[in-house]
Amino acid sequence: MSKSITRRWSVAMAITLGTAFTACNVNEPAKQLEVSDNLLIQEWEGAYQGVPAFDKMKLEDLKPAMEEAMALNLKEIEAIANNAEKPTFENTIVAMESAGKAFDRVATYYYLWSSNLSSPEFRKIQGEMAPKLSDFYSKISQNEKLFDRIRTVYEAAKENPLEAEAQRVLDLTYTRFAMNGAELDSAGKARYAAINKELSSLYTKFGNNVLADEEGYVTYITKEQLGGLPESFVKASAKAAADRGKEGMYAITNTRSSMDPFLTYSDERELREKVWKNYYSRGDNGDEHDNNQVIVEILKLRDERVGLLGFDNYAQWRLQDRMAKTPERAMEMMETVWPAAVARVKEEVADMQTVADQRGDKITIEPWDYRYYAEKVRKAKYDLDSDEVKQYLQLDKLREAMFFVAGELFNFNFQPVPEGSVPVFHEDVKVWEVTDKTSGEHIGLWYLDPFARPGKRSGAWATTYRSYTTFEGKKNVLSSNNSNFIKPAEGEAVLVSWDDATTFFHEFGHALHFLSSNVKYPTLNGGVRDYTEFQSQLLENWLATDQVINNYLVHYKTGEPMPKELVQKIKKASTFNQGFATTEYLASALMDMYYHTTDPETIDPDTFERETLAKLGMPKELVMRHRSTQFGHVFSGEGYATAYYGYMWADVLTSDAVQAFRDAEGGFYDKEMADKLVKYLFAPRNAMDPAEAYRKFRGRDAKIDALMRERGFPVPKEM
Ligand SMILES: [Zn+2]
Repeated sequence: MSKSITRRWSVAMAITLGTAFTACNVNEPAKQLEVSDNLLIQEWEGAYQGVPAFDKMKLEDLKPAMEEAMALNLKEIEAIANNAEKPTFENTIVAMESAGKAFDRVATYYYLWSSNLSSPEFRKIQGEMAPKLSDFYSKISQNEKLFDRIRTVYEAAKENPLEAEAQRVLDLTYTRFAMNGAELDSAGKARYAAINKELSSLYTKFGNNVLADEEGYVTYITKEQLGGLPESFVKASAKAAADRGKEGMYAITNTRSSMDPFLTYSDERELREKVWKNYYSRGDNGDEHDNNQVIVEILKLRDERVGLLGFDNYAQWRLQDRMAKTPERAMEMMETVWPAAVARVKEEVADMQTVADQRGDKITIEPWDYRYYAEKVRKAKYDLDSDEVKQYLQLDKLREAMFFVAGELFNFNFQPVPEGSVPVFHEDVKVWEVTDKTSGEHIGLWYLDPFARPGKRSGAWATTYRSYTTFEGKKNVLSSNNSNFIKPAEGEAVLVSWDDATTFFHEFGHALHFLSSNVKYPTLNGGVRDYTEFQSQLLENWLATDQVINNYLVHYKTGEPMPKELVQKIKKASTFNQGFATTEYLASALMDMYYHTTDPETIDPDTFERETLAKLGMPKELVMRHRSTQFGHVFSGEGYATAYYGYMWADVLTSDAVQAFRDAEGGFYDKEMADKLVKYLFAPRNAMDPAEAYRKFRGRDAKIDALMRERGFPVPKEM
């Protein structure tokens, strides 16, 4: 999955309740707070304002460090809550913004283990910590004295508003507490906290079940079964098998990065079916790792929890501080696009069936045939060979291209740090220093962890180890990008697909969003879930610009730039298979919303998924991008629960913003547009209301027309 989250988001998502508590766990402890000699809780040392000690960290230190950090943070919060002075913005809100730095440091390691270096030993600790963390967050969010102070400051500001950033952080803090039960009576609060604790364990269980099924279903094939597979894939599969002690075999692992190319290229239909079934059955195998019952429990608890706050359903509660504001607005957007996407699937299937018939394959298109025949149609219709495209997409060159784009739009310069100056947690991880191109001013670091390995979460994501703030002096940004490219055999170039190159740019967009932050307070770095994918999706569009193509998309052997005809073919083919892509995505996004607007007492996930999709008219030739039992976005935390629609919500903005660049005199590198982009869309993060920020950039609200055109769908009237 291509999701990206700041570290705070991720910690919250992985271990407890999503965005709700970011205000309370983001800072450093007041200086006088003493900490033990546990390495994980120490101030970060070394160059660049101090960096995490990734080279020295030990898992055995994690649990005690987490416990110490939580205790410290609670002490800080108690001190704020029990302050004898009258509540002010400074002694309450600013003090809260400043608290929790030790926790933040430890959580950086915790999250790193969770996503980049997971192991059975870590998962055991995670299982123990999840309920404790939930208790910890509840103690903060339900601290009555603390909330009284926040409310007093909030009420006072109604009379005398604060300066804009201070007012924003106050509003966000107040809303967050109110949304999370601060106004409940003591019985309500107790139940609320108990629910969260139960949920946190269920989220961990859900995620671990999916991971177990990813690790537990490797398909080993022989040399005779390699028909159709590209050489690079064969090599990587041989290595994956050897790594698992099966020298001479080829391993198809149960992850998207292995499943997707296998289904696209393999001529072995029965194996395609097997690999497809393994992948889409994750969490749904009726065994100890089955997630169906976990989903039911999660839904009931979520529903009960928002019921305590007087909401009809979870979606209503969740969307109140999103850009969409209500489930109805999100649904309306999705329902506008859905019929066009499904209609396109019918056309795609017809095209594929024709190709199959012409080849004399005597089959009816099944879900495990979709990618395979789509690739044949792509070649026939667009004469576009994905493997030929790959020859021009070298990982190193793509990275240089991203640096170039960052230089043009953001005025950033990227320079590798001196060898050994910044500790890393794996030899594959490399680090760059980011500076301002003109002034040379230091901005931060960018870590890249590019390759797949056991224990690393699948997909690609971006995160921060430290975010920009100025309220206690200017802090630099420690940002990171993480991918799962298949590590090549020694001396081979890493060649990636167009989609993977796009995702690489996407995640870099998140990194640029972190790096360009100019906010004063930590809370203002927080994301708005249906808005934070916009900046990253927007950046994807620079991959296909002439400057990038001519200088960076060069053949890995000849060094020749990608030929114009091939570029044209890619552009022409960009609307290809949009029926599949949009439908598989929307099916997941709609299900996410239906799960959280339906009475959970009536839901049996297996039946509910089948019946709801049937009602929607889901084509039988494809499935949800993330089937319910593997929908980690929604069920292994709350970060994306009733928020999966956010990708498309953000894409409406993206297409509309791209149109603005297309129309600009200097196109994608127009200086005036770039300035506005940084000033309104990136730098303010959540310091400005997203709708207002977008209006400042565009001069109006976004329209859906550009999105429909980009996907090759008819533009609806009166939109
Ligand atoms: Zn993203």
